[in-house]
Amino acid sequence: MNKDKIGTLGVHAGYEPENGGPRQIPIIQSTTFKYTTSDQMGRLFDLEEAGYFYTRLQNPTNDHVAARLAAMEGGVAGMLTSSGQAANFFACFNICEAGGHMITTANIYGGTYNLFVTTFKKMGIDVTVIDQNASDEEFEKAFKPNTKLLFAETLTNPGVRVLDIERMARIAHSHGVPLIIDNTFPTPVFCRPIEFGADIVTHSTTKYIDGHGSSVGGAIVDSGNFPWDKYADKYPGLCSPDPSYHGLTYTKKFGKLAFITKATSQLMRDFGCIQSPQNAYYVNLGLQSLEVRVKRHNSSALKVARFLESHPAVKWVRFPELESDPDHALQLKYMPEGTCGVMAFALNADREFTNRFMDHLRLVTIETHVADAYTCILHPAAHTHRQLTDEQLREAGVDPDLMRLSIGLEDPEDLIADFKQAFEAAAQK
Ligand SMILES: *Cc1c(COP(=O)(O)O)cnc(C)c1O
Repeated sequence: MNKDKIGTLGVHAGYEPENGGPRQIPIIQSTTFKYTTSDQMGRLFDLEEAGYFYTRLQNPTNDHVAARLAAMEGGVAGMLTSSGQAANFFACFNICEAGGHMITTANIYGGTYNLFVTTFKKMGIDVTVIDQNASDEEFEKAFKPNTKLLFAETLTNPGVRVLDIERMARIAHSHGVPLIIDNTFPTPVFCRPIEFGADIVTHSTTKYIDGHGSSVGGAIVDSGNFPWDKYADKYPGLCSPDPSYHGLTYTKKFGKLAFITKATSQLMRDFGCIQSPQNAYYVNLGLQSLEVRVKRHNSSALKVARFLESHPAVKWVRFPELESDPDHALQLKYMPEGTCGVMAFALNADREFTNRFMDHLRLVTIETHVADAYTCILHPAAHTHRQLTDEQLREAGVDPDLMRLSIGLEDPEDLIADFKQAFEAAAQK
C-alpha cells in the first residue's frame, strides 16, 4: 500500500488502532492518568520514561493528531497548541529568550507581527523586521551575534505573497540559525516547507486544517534537521543541562526529538497553552478531508480570480496562480499544484462604490476571518484599519483599495453570479 501520498497520510498517519480498538482516533477526555507504582510515576516526571500523566503537558488524542500532521509535513515530531498564536510563540521562545534576537519578515499575519514587535520586546527579545524580498545584503545586515532564528510565512496573510523558501533557508543556515515557517495558508497539501530547507513549521489549525470555522488551534512540526549541537553556545536551552529535570540535556537524551520535547516539557508545563482533546478531534477530522477541501477552495478561487481580473470594475487581482501575478514564478516552483483560496483585489472605484458593492453581496459575507467553508470578504481600510488615513495605511503596508477575499466551499458559479449582481446593483446605486 502506498502510504506516502498526502491524502493517505491525512487519513492514516499517527494512529493505528489495536485489534478491536476504535477505528477513529478516540477523544481521551481525561485530565490525568493512573499508574500502579510510585517508581514509574517518578520516572515519568524525570522524563526517564515516556507516558502520560497530566493533560496540561500531553494527551494521547492530541499526540495522535500531532503525529498525523507531522507525517503530512514530512517532520519527525509535532505538538498541538491552543491557537496559532501559541504555536508561533512556543516555536520562537523555545530557542530565543530575553537577551536574544530574532529576524522576521514584515509580510506576516498581523497577530504574529504584534506578538513579535510588541510582546516579545516586553520580554526582552530584540526583533528585526525585514521585507521578505529585501536583497541578500540587507538580510546580511539584519543578523547579529545573538540572532537565534529567522521567521517567515510560506504564503502571507493577507497579501498572498509567495516566500522564496530555499533562499530564506540558505540565508538562515549561512548564519547558523533555523528557519521557522508558518505554513497556515498553503497547508502541507500544497507546500511542504521542510522539503525546501525549513527547519520548523507552524500552523494556525484554525484556518484550512479545521476548515469549518469551528475551533481555534495551532501546531508545531519539527523537521529534526537543525544541528543544534553544532551551535551549542547559541542554544544552551537545548544543548546544556536543564536544572528543572535533574540536569538532563535535551539534544543528548532525545536527539531529533529535542526541540518538541523541550517545548512540551518546559513551555507546555509552564504556560499551559494545550489544545483540548475535543478540539484536537476536530483538527483530526479536518486533516482527514484536508486534501479534498483545499483543492476545491483553490480551484474555485482561481475561477473567481479569473472572473474578477476580466471585469472592467476591477483594478487589479493578486492571486499567485494568475499569470499576471508578480509571484507566479515562485508559485510554480514552490506550490505548483495550488496555493489556497485567499486573494486580494481592488476596484476601479471610489470608496462609496466599494462599500455599495460589498453591501449588495448576498452569498459572500463581510467577515474578519479566512480559510473556512464560507466565502467572505474584508476591506481593511473600511474595517480592521478604519482609524488610519490612506497615507498611514500605505505606511503600514496596506493598500487603501485592497480587499481580501477568502473563497469557501460553495459552488464557484454561484459565487461568480453573486459578484456579477453586486457589481450591477452597485452601478445603479
Ligand atoms: C490566523 C493566523 C495565525 C494566528 O492563529 P490563531 O489560531 O488565530 O491564533 C497565525 N498565522 C497565520 C498565517 C494566520 O492566518
